[in-house]
Amino acid sequence: MEKDCTFCKILSGEIPTAYLFENDIAVVFKDIKPIAPVHLLIVPKKHIRSVNDLTADDGKIVSAMITIARDMAKKLSIAASGYKLFFNVERGGGQVIFHLHLHLIGGWK
Ligand code: 5GP
Ligand code: ZN
Repeated sequence: MEKDCTFCKILSGEIPTAYLFENDIAVVFKDIKPIAPVHLLIVPKKHIRSVNDLTADDGKIVSAMITIARDMAKKLSIAASGYKLFFNVERGGGQVIFHLHLHLIGGWK
């Protein structure tokens, strides 16, 4: 856990947040400022700053994040209509929370 990390604070319960899903690797919650009708964040329990900091050992975490996103899209009935998955990487890539997370957006009519 990193002291000044918003997502570590969510994971520790310091910032109360409802999870839509949780397992041993990651949690899923709604983005506080959604940019689409459905906007979820898939957040690993391990503090990793960004995609730049991934190591070979983190492969299991990244593949789990993608399959969790896929399963959430199905659960929210947006799998067939389609959705986007993306990582913002560092400031120039739009990252503002430096704890790895996968955005899932969709649900447009
Ligand atoms: P980034 O730009 O770093 O890829 O995305 C961070 C996302 O986290 C943003 O879309 C922002 O709205 C969301 N966010 C920031 N703080 C909180 C928070 O305290 N709770 C939740 N649920 N989302 C947050
Ligand atoms: Zn963190």
